[in-house]
This record gives sequence, C-alpha cells and structure tokens, in this order.
Amino acid sequence: MKICPKCDSQNANNAAVCKNCGASLNEVPDLSDAVADVEQKGRKPAWAFLCALISFASSASKGLLPLESEEVTSTHYILYFVSCAVSILFLVFCALLLRGIFKKKSIPAIGLAAVLLCIVCAIMVILDVFSLPSTIADFRALF
Ligand SMILES: [Zn+2]
Repeated sequence: MKICPKCDSQNANNAAVCKNCGASLNEVPDLSDAVADVEQKGRKPAWAFLCALISFASSASKGLLPLESEEVTSTHYILYFVSCAVSILFLVFCALLLRGIFKKKSIPAIGLAAVLLCIVCAIMVILDVFSLPSTIADFRALF
C-alpha cells in the first residue's frame, strides 16, 4: 500500500501515480510491511490475555477436586498435578507474550487486563508451589 503524499489516499503497491489526484508515487515507500507489523504486535496482548485466562481457569478448576473429602482417589491427585502443570505452562506463555509491552507508549486495555490476570495467576501458582509438598505427601499416603 502506498499513501499519496499530496492527498493521503491509499494506492496499490505498483501504482506510479495517485488514482485520486495524479501525483507521482515513485518516491513513496510501500507501507504494507509496517502495517502488518503493527497489526501483529496489536494481537499479542489479546493472545496473552487468552493464555492468562486458560492459566486462571486451570488453576481455579482445582478447587472442584474433593481433595479434603474421604472419597479421594489417585485420579483426583493426578488431575490436581495436571491442572497445576497446565496453569504454569500457560502462565509462562502469557509472560513471554507480554514481554516488552511496557516499552510501548500506549498499552491497550486488553494488554493491561492480561497483565493483571497474569499477576493473579502468578500468585495462585506460588500458593500451589507452597502447598505442593503436603499434597504429594497426601498422594503417597493413598498407596
Ligand atoms: Zn493523491
């Protein structure tokens, strides 16, 4: 895409003159790559938010497991460990996608939401890590 320097209308990459005003476009750089780059970067915070959401859901779903009741089976513990692993994995994806977001002048709202959710997930993961030794001990006690 070429932007006419005279009237700002958009023209095809291979256009020699502006279709609107006829000005020469030979000196005008092709903006397609720059536009694609900006669009690509704009999508990153949305992906980060999705990863944080999956991490949060996976971490929160552990609350549904009856680990405190008497009907606990080894399957419940395996589900607990799997949801911990999924939660940590997607938290890492989220952090990787959010890298460099603060270098930008304006952070999109979805980016801020992703950062906040990422922090909540990080706290949940830290709590999981602290409760892991006793969870493993309880798991071993089943056998
Ligand atoms: Zn023009």
